[in-house]
Amino acid sequence: MILQLRQNISHEEATTLAEANQAAFFQENGAYIFVLSSSVKSVPSALEAYTDKSWVTDSDIQLASKQYRKEVREVKWGKTIVGGNTGNTVMIAGPCSVESEAQLELTASLLKELNVNNMRAGAFKPRTSPYTFQGLGIDGLMLLAKMRDKYGFSIVTEVRDATNVEAIIEYADIIQIGAKSMYDHGILKRCGKTDKPILLKRGFGATLQEFVQCAEFVLSGGNPNVMLCERGIRTFETKTRFTLDLCGVSYLKEYTNLPLILDPSHAMGYAYGVADLSRACVAMGIDGLLVEVHPEPKKALSDASQQLTYDQFRNLMQTLQPIANAVGRQMV
Ligand code: PEP
Ligand code: MN
Repeated sequence: MILQLRQNISHEEATTLAEANQAAFFQENGAYIFVLSSSVKSVPSALEAYTDKSWVTDSDIQLASKQYRKEVREVKWGKTIVGGNTGNTVMIAGPCSVESEAQLELTASLLKELNVNNMRAGAFKPRTSPYTFQGLGIDGLMLLAKMRDKYGFSIVTEVRDATNVEAIIEYADIIQIGAKSMYDHGILKRCGKTDKPILLKRGFGATLQEFVQCAEFVLSGGNPNVMLCERGIRTFETKTRFTLDLCGVSYLKEYTNLPLILDPSHAMGYAYGVADLSRACVAMGIDGLLVEVHPEPKKALSDASQQLTYDQFRNLMQTLQPIANAVGRQMV
C-alpha cells in the first residue's frame, strides 16, 4: 500500500513513523510517500491522522504500477524526453564497449549524421569470462565524457558494481544497470539516491515480477526516473543468444508506469536479426531502442557478432520513422 502523507510533516517525524510502520519512504513534491507491504489493504490506524491519500496495490509492484500512476512517467535527460504523452521513441546507439578515442570519434560522426543524440558504450564490462576484455574502466568513462562535452551527446553507460557507481553517476547522463547486475542491491539502492535516469535491464533469468521489483528498490529510494529494458531472456532455444520477450513487453506496458526501452542486439546476439527485431519493437509503441553499432564489428573487443555495421545501422534508421508514425509515435 502507498500513502502520501500531509505536507507539513518533518523529516524526523517521517523517519520515526516509517520505522514504527516498516515503511520505505521518500519525499516527492514536498510530501512524504510511504510504501508499506502490498499485503496491507487499509491505512494503518497509527498513520491515519498523517495520511492525505492512499493507493492499494495487488503485489509488491507498487510505485511502478498503473494502480499508483495511470500515466507512463516522463523521464528527461539532455535533449530528450520520453514517456508522458510525448509519443517519443528514442534511439540510443553505440558500440558494446569503449575501445579507443578513435572508435568513439567514428561513432560520434555516425550518430551526428543520423541525428542520434544518445551514445551508449560500456566502460566497465560485466563479462561472462574473466579472460576476455573487461573494459577501459575510468579511462573509458572519461572518453565518453569527452564525447559529451565535444558533441553534446547524452551518455548511457553501465555500472558494473557498487565500487564504480559514484564515478558513473557523476559522468553519465543515464546509468545503465546491466542484466547481470539487476539484483545488485548496492547498485539499486545507490541509484535510488540520485535523480539521474536509470536504465534497468532485465536479468536473463528473472521473471517480470522480479524485474519490476528491482525497479521498486530504485523508486522507493526516491529516484522517480527509472526506465525498464527488456534485453532477452534465456529459454530452451540455442540458435539465438536469448529470446526477446515481447509478451513481457505487452505485460509491462499494461501494468507498469515506467518507460520501456528495448535492446534487440543483446537478445538476438547476431547482427542479422537486429534490424527486423528493432522494427518489431518500434511497432509495439515502445519508448526507446538500444542498438549496438561498431565501425568494424568483426574487430570488436566484445559482442562482435551482434554489432551492426554503419551501413546496416543507416538502413535501419531509414525504416523506423514510418513505423513509429504508424503507431502514433515519432523517433527522436
Ligand atoms: C551491454 O549493454 O553491453 C550489456 C552488457 O548488456 P546486458 O547487461 O543486457 O547483457
Ligand atoms: Mn554488449
